[in-house]
Amino acid sequence: MAKGQLIVYTGASGVGKGTIMEQLLADNDNLRLSVSATTRAPRPGEVDGVNYHYVSREEFERMIENDLLLEYAQYCDNMYGTPKASVLDLIEKGFDVMLEIEVKGYEQVKKLFPECVTIFVLPPSIEELERRLRKRGTETDDVIAQRLSRAVEEMEYAPAFDYQVINDDVQRAKTEILNIIANIKNENK
Ligand code: 5GP
Repeated sequence: MAKGQLIVYTGASGVGKGTIMEQLLADNDNLRLSVSATTRAPRPGEVDGVNYHYVSREEFERMIENDLLLEYAQYCDNMYGTPKASVLDLIEKGFDVMLEIEVKGYEQVKKLFPECVTIFVLPPSIEELERRLRKRGTETDDVIAQRLSRAVEEMEYAPAFDYQVINDDVQRAKTEILNIIANIKNENK
């Protein structure tokens, strides 16, 4: 059986990556999202084991020491990392696996798996990104300011990615990404 494709999916906090992702997963049976480990506290409505594996700093450090993470990075004040075993297992089974990670994680994955496909999701504008972050209402002004400045830094990486997708409309962005994935599969045949 053919192995699945590893897809790095990156974009600023608040850009709408999660909403697009839900739709991608609903529309493509062969796609799986890797569930990361994080030291961040769950937001209202987030579920342990579904959105993230929520762990303490100590547990996270133990995962690093035991080489259980494919990549990891600090984002604002929290740690985030991709569990290695589950991703490799899904790829072996033929599933395409999306890693929703920030740019430092992208750099690590690109080194380990140069053949991975990389997609960067951009907001229509910085003003729109700020509006979306505020509308979510889950972060304090301080955290929003941190995330916005990080978003501007991260956007400088966008040209290095294989594909840049502007989230001006969720349905349109979703269709564009589904087409990207379908084309990769065709090229690999
Ligand atoms: P959030 O706190 O908004 O859920 O995530 C903050 C940032 O961390 C986002 O850019 C998200 O893509 C990134 N992130 C989530 N999981 C991982 C991971 O496993 N590794 C890395 N490097 N970044 C992650």
